[in-house]
Amino acid sequence: MITDVHVHLEPYEAFRPAVRKVMFDRIPDIERVRGLLSDPRRLLAHLDSAGVDRACLINYVAPEVMGFTEDANRYVGEFAREDRKRLIPFGSVHPRRTKNPKRDVEQLASKWEMGGMKIHPPHQLFAANAYADGKLPALRRIYQTAERLRMPVMIHTGTSIFPGARSKYGDPMAIDDVAQDFPDLTIIMAHGGRPLWCDTAFYLLRRHANVFLDISSIPPRRLLEWFPRLEDISDKVLFGSDWPGPGIPGMKEEIDGLRALPLKPETIERILSQNAAKLFP
Ligand SMILES: [Zn+2]
Repeated sequence: MITDVHVHLEPYEAFRPAVRKVMFDRIPDIERVRGLLSDPRRLLAHLDSAGVDRACLINYVAPEVMGFTEDANRYVGEFAREDRKRLIPFGSVHPRRTKNPKRDVEQLASKWEMGGMKIHPPHQLFAANAYADGKLPALRRIYQTAERLRMPVMIHTGTSIFPGARSKYGDPMAIDDVAQDFPDLTIIMAHGGRPLWCDTAFYLLRRHANVFLDISSIPPRRLLEWFPRLEDISDKVLFGSDWPGPGIPGMKEEIDGLRALPLKPETIERILSQNAAKLFP
């Protein structure tokens, strides 16, 4: 059972104009993509054609940079109702906007049956450990609640090309605090800090039992260049495509690229199937 842990399902009407322009300039078949993402049955058929059994549908509240508000949670939650076994919704609670972080995280689980939560520091404009110096106490409560509910938290690491994104918040070292302060929280480190901080990401994966790597948006031909000791962490690596982000050819192309790498067959099976089956039973 192959799981793509990183598919973007976003309300395209909500994009800020500058972000919308990047999407429309850099995704050649954007109209077809929009069609696939506007109807869950069409997306499920697309998953079938790519050989993907399950997809995590990633979404997050980021009004300043992307334009997404709390309505993104409703959007992805309703979409996934078509087939909650194959479509795993991810939403978010923004620590600067929520009045009740505990209640809002609980609602992601109870109202929308979210399989996980997304934190996107370069698009939400705070560091993943911004609670540590007392500036953003709601962020601590968000992590605490997710930890108690056993809800995995995916944290974007690495640069971002969207206008207004602050890549300084993409340094994965901030996760060193989160992993220690919330030892029972499952942390999915998206993109492995690519392209600037892959060594930091590898260190954190070996250091912390609760940190996992999602390889989305790392081109398969770069994966072993940036993570030469990938076999050493093979039980912590999750396949994700980042489709339909700019520069991503497609889910099937990413799977084929991964399968073509000189990795042990059992490592490839772990990455595509087994590791995600443990995190999303
Ligand atoms: Zn992404």
